[in-house]
Amino acid sequence: MRHQAEMRAWLAQGKHGSMAYLAEHADLKADPSRLLEGAAAAIVVADLYATRNDEAGDVPDGHGRVARYARGGDYHKVMKKRLHTLCDELGARWPGARTRAFVDTAPVHERELALAAGLGWVGKHTLVIHPRFGSWMLLGGVLTTLELDPCEQEVADHCGSCTRCIDACPTDAITPYSVDASRCISYLTIERREPIPSELEHGMGEWLFGCDICQEVCPHNSPRMGDVGKANNAYATDRASFDLAEVMKWDEDARRAAFAKSAMKRAKLGMMKRNAVIAAGNAITRLGAEHEQSRRLLEALGGLADDAGEDGELRRLAAEALSRHRSTMG
Ligand code: SF4
Ligand code: SF4
Repeated sequence: MRHQAEMRAWLAQGKHGSMAYLAEHADLKADPSRLLEGAAAAIVVADLYATRNDEAGDVPDGHGRVARYARGGDYHKVMKKRLHTLCDELGARWPGARTRAFVDTAPVHERELALAAGLGWVGKHTLVIHPRFGSWMLLGGVLTTLELDPCEQEVADHCGSCTRCIDACPTDAITPYSVDASRCISYLTIERREPIPSELEHGMGEWLFGCDICQEVCPHNSPRMGDVGKANNAYATDRASFDLAEVMKWDEDARRAAFAKSAMKRAKLGMMKRNAVIAAGNAITRLGAEHEQSRRLLEALGGLADDAGEDGELRRLAAEALSRHRSTMG
């Protein structure tokens, strides 16, 4: 596969952070036939969760922002269901053909396969960009034993001299065509279970789950590029943000209820509360400690810091955020 060498170099440099499964799955990903014996082809699909004409959505003060792909229905479920229908139809039409659907969870290199399928090019932010639809899309597909004609059309790289995503990334995670996951807010908020290095906290802004900044600034996602119709309604925004003071008070039941239908349900309670503490600290800095929402957040931070039943690291983080702002409290 085209980007295998880059992927291995990225892993060797430790840019995958603590996502050890990426290194463990590297061989499997390199050879899809290890996932489906006799795999001869991959049918790759892109499901639009937003279009370039959709607004980013306002987030009220005191709320933590959620990346667009996670604001509606759980894409694992939505896409798997559609892909299983496709598998059933392939099986009915070509009895004996074996298939295996993949969406994110299986160790398949979706990005590589999407390139081979002519779905777009890999932007400098490392996401696949479709020349017409942009990058607000989820990738998945079906491995099959069917012999299919390969896609001939390769999409040329249209990034050119643009560096908007690199310039806009608040944690300097992007070098052209490589993202250092250990600095990326998506990774930090969703994958990293260990404490977040304090020097990255400020750059994380008010993101609670994921980050869209490099996609928001990309000219290929700009409404100026023209209307492309509608995204899949299953991903229509249910929640674009969560009240940070509430998240800081969540217990397991509250977390489960809040994320019941969303892809966010995989996010652990402790990580969400940690993200909420960091986002709250940044929100207070932006709003000023006298702001009505800052006062609520400071109160919630105080509650966490004083809660003897809470995790020690979380209490320490809350106490630290509190003491940073205490001097400016009225
Ligand atoms: S998702 Fe956010 S933090 Fe990660 S590379 Fe893009 S802009 Fe940077
Ligand atoms: S912002 Fe510019 S450099 Fe980054 S992916 Fe989009 S076109 Fe490429």
